[in-house]
Amino acid sequence: MNYKVDAHIHITENGDYHGLGIDCSVEKLLRQMDESGYDKGVLIAVPNMNTNAEISRICKKYPDKFIGFGNVDPNNKNFEDEIERLKFEHNLNGIKLHGRMGKFSYLHENILPICKKAGKLDLPVEFCLWPAFPGPLSEMSPYTIEKYIMKCPETNFIIGHVGGFKMWEAFMLCKAYPNVYLDFTYTINYFENTSYFQDIIFMLKKANPKRCMIGSDFPENNLSDIKRISEKALKDFSIAERAEIQGNTILNLTNNN
Ligand SMILES: [Zn+2]
Repeated sequence: MNYKVDAHIHITENGDYHGLGIDCSVEKLLRQMDESGYDKGVLIAVPNMNTNAEISRICKKYPDKFIGFGNVDPNNKNFEDEIERLKFEHNLNGIKLHGRMGKFSYLHENILPICKKAGKLDLPVEFCLWPAFPGPLSEMSPYTIEKYIMKCPETNFIIGHVGGFKMWEAFMLCKAYPNVYLDFTYTINYFENTSYFQDIIFMLKKANPKRCMIGSDFPENNLSDIKRISEKALKDFSIAERAEIQGNTILNLTNNN
């Protein structure tokens, strides 16, 4: 069965991934999509690696293949203009806030107005909530962003990486608030051979498949590996439930249905 959408991908026009010698070119991605049977992918801008214009150019070059999420920098006092440009000039479909790569805290005073503005423009906001260096790790847990979720009922929030090992916080937020969605990217492969994998299967079902998505985090993972792990997690799911997790959730959120 075809996988409609890989919900979480990073690429650059020149194929360079943080200078690590890893190829993250469009060509390599398209090859993997083809081999694994993915129809579309969500390209997520990373601060200090992509500009929103770059992600926009790639999306425009392959309009049937890609959906784009841009960055907004809370340290930029003109962040309102940045959001307007993201939507109306670059035609991107969502906002990614990446504190670690963008070097800002999720407690920054401009995060709330960014989330409010995003809701007005019907742009979902994804927070990277994978806890990692340079921290502070305590600010990267899903409950840190609960205040924004509560104050912005018009905005849809995506909990990136479902909060890593704090996935139960993400799950509880999803149960409590109708505007919360879970992105299981990276966490699903990182915890594949641990007891958390059973928790992930439970959550994919109980959180409601309409609120869940999975991606590869390309070039961190091969799409074929993520497809194999997804198959393992979704083996007892109905065709309808799988269709949501494998693409409909993110397509609906970004008005691409
Ligand atoms: Zn990522």
